[in-house]
Amino acid sequence: MPSNTHSTEMIFYSSAQSPLFSDLPITFYVSSRYGGHSPKPYDSLNLAYHTHDSPTSVTSNRTKLCNALFPQSPLLWLNQTHSDHIIEFNDLSSLPLDGLIGSGDALICAQKHIACMVMVADCNPILVYNPRQKIFALIHAGRAGVCNAILTKTITKLLNTYHSAAKDLLIFIGPSIRKCCYAISPKLAKDFPSYALQAPPNTIVHTNTQNPHLDLIALLSLQLSALKIPPEHIQIHPACSCCSKDLFSYRRDGLTGRFALLVMQT
Ligand SMILES: [Zn+2]
Repeated sequence: MPSNTHSTEMIFYSSAQSPLFSDLPITFYVSSRYGGHSPKPYDSLNLAYHTHDSPTSVTSNRTKLCNALFPQSPLLWLNQTHSDHIIEFNDLSSLPLDGLIGSGDALICAQKHIACMVMVADCNPILVYNPRQKIFALIHAGRAGVCNAILTKTITKLLNTYHSAAKDLLIFIGPSIRKCCYAISPKLAKDFPSYALQAPPNTIVHTNTQNPHLDLIALLSLQLSALKIPPEHIQIHPACSCCSKDLFSYRRDGLTGRFALLVMQT
């Protein structure tokens, strides 16, 4: 955890608390919605320009958070588009001043002391780390990303291009909307298995309420299992973003900010 006591309210969860990651040369944080400068409905630590919040507020929020967590390091981020596009960052000479390294929803980085983030408000923020090779991937996976198998495609790239071994990979899935809150229309529930490759039967949870609920964690877990990631290498944070008032939730609030999963190798 950051030493500055004023910064702790900005952190919802960190790798220091993780049974899988606490002893490894990688640090991650899930930001909270507190301690920033944005007014309602983005109050207050909104980290995303792709909202209608003032860019000045977002910049000062990012600066405050990064000064507390990664004071010496640049912050890389993506123009997230709910795609399955993967960006590989290996060339330090191409580091843009504002940290924006392109449009896509997964980032592969082998550099130390470069902070990277994905922003979410119900979508899944996912870290894939290979401590043996000192390389990580950071992924933004909402319903479209999960159904387009961005997690599978990113891990497959690590396996094929970087020659990672599945047994070496560690996974952290951060807070996201869970089956308790993710009601979908009956039509989407009916169509879902046909457009989500290999959707397991338990992806759609039928409840007593009018609409069925979607369990993207079940689908992500199936994708990881198919890739032979050891179950003991997978940590799924239990928090539902829509249930937790400490996190931004698009489903709950509509117009709202974004929290982030921020990662840096040390
Ligand atoms: Zn919930």
